[in-house]
Amino acid sequence: MKVFKFGGASVNSVERIKNMAEIMRQYNGEKLMVIVSAMGKTTNALEKVTKAFCDGHKDEALFLFEQLKQQHLTTAKYLLVTNYLSCEVQLKDFFTEVEWLLHDKPVREYDYYYDQVVCAGELFSTSIVSHYLNEKGIANKWIDARDIIRTDDDFRDAVIDWKFTMNQVQNMIVPLFQENNIILTQGFIGATDENESTTLGREGSDYTAAVFANMLDAESQTIWKDVESVMNADPKQFPGAVAIEELNYNEVIEMAYYGAQVIHPKTIKPLQNKGIPLYVKCFLNPSLKGTIIHDRPVHGLPPIIVLKENQVLLEMSSRDFSFIGEQHVSHLYHLMEKMHIKPNLTQNGAISFLCVIDEWPEKIEKLALEASSFLDVQVTKGLSLLTIRHYNKEIFEYLTQKKTILLRQQTPETIQVLLQQNRMDEIQNN
Ligand code: ASP
Ligand code: MG
Repeated sequence: MKVFKFGGASVNSVERIKNMAEIMRQYNGEKLMVIVSAMGKTTNALEKVTKAFCDGHKDEALFLFEQLKQQHLTTAKYLLVTNYLSCEVQLKDFFTEVEWLLHDKPVREYDYYYDQVVCAGELFSTSIVSHYLNEKGIANKWIDARDIIRTDDDFRDAVIDWKFTMNQVQNMIVPLFQENNIILTQGFIGATDENESTTLGREGSDYTAAVFANMLDAESQTIWKDVESVMNADPKQFPGAVAIEELNYNEVIEMAYYGAQVIHPKTIKPLQNKGIPLYVKCFLNPSLKGTIIHDRPVHGLPPIIVLKENQVLLEMSSRDFSFIGEQHVSHLYHLMEKMHIKPNLTQNGAISFLCVIDEWPEKIEKLALEASSFLDVQVTKGLSLLTIRHYNKEIFEYLTQKKTILLRQQTPETIQVLLQQNRMDEIQNN
């Protein structure tokens, strides 16, 4: 049995869904667990619906949701003939689920509503894709992932109840594979023991796929993407980025940790624990080799570059020149945990604590304000954080030229620097 994950870009139009079906056809006769994301930018659009609703703009929320409904119905109409009506019935059930909520007044927290609304994206897309595949003779069984993936109620960042979910997989999914070759379900979503919908964090479908791969002892997992393979840098930032054909689990965990937008960070562990190889392949050209990620040592990797823009440096120092001790630091971490701030880099000195975080204005202001009750706080914005794994002197000098290094951390494998564009350069560039 193989697990496939099709991301939002692979199903974001009528043509792409047809293309996906062609890929599936190549695997005729194989047992496949297929995880599909929401179409294109649907998740972002549903985030806007939630925001409008929670801000008290009910009409706007309903209007934005109406647009999404029409988009999905139109896609279904273009794709389906015999199965259109049955798909429409299913879609309308999901529409009602959301609209019923949008007609109410928001009385609970934002994150709760977020999950109830945003989960609809994957329900819509999988309904359309499943009906289309069935109509084209690629028989599959659609499943609501919320009946399988049980989570806690930490909305938007829900944690899977491994034991319960494992039971559901054994009792519901395994028997279904006796009669079906293909089971198709949503990534990213789950439900609590009270049947409230939850989500696993943005881009969480990779992770869902890995959870199924682990629990079903899959022979492999494949993530179908719009890139030819995993690259050593983001080609949008570095046009000279090169493809990497082979990686091991640890390297990918490190890359994701430093912020490479390759694969959802939680994806690797469930695969690594069972030694299941992960393939990253291009849905636009399946004949390309792509990348294999497994547990064998991989030598001769190129430098791997991760550049995070819009970084903010918080410099917090003691007022009376006393040392920064565990008390200060644990207080700061406590504040960050409370505000869901994940520092990208920290450094502890004698009388100061440095912390680099993503530029998220409200959160930074709040953190700075709270920290200023016991420390002096200085904030520097507009920075970038460069991480290079397997670095060498040439690449390091090349990537840091004409920049001021504000902070530097280094191990034999990895170097990280916080960079500020030189003032003169900035003026020239403008
Ligand atoms: N649809 C969700 C998102 O866009 C989950 C995913 O695609 O993995 O974040
Ligand atoms: Mg996605």
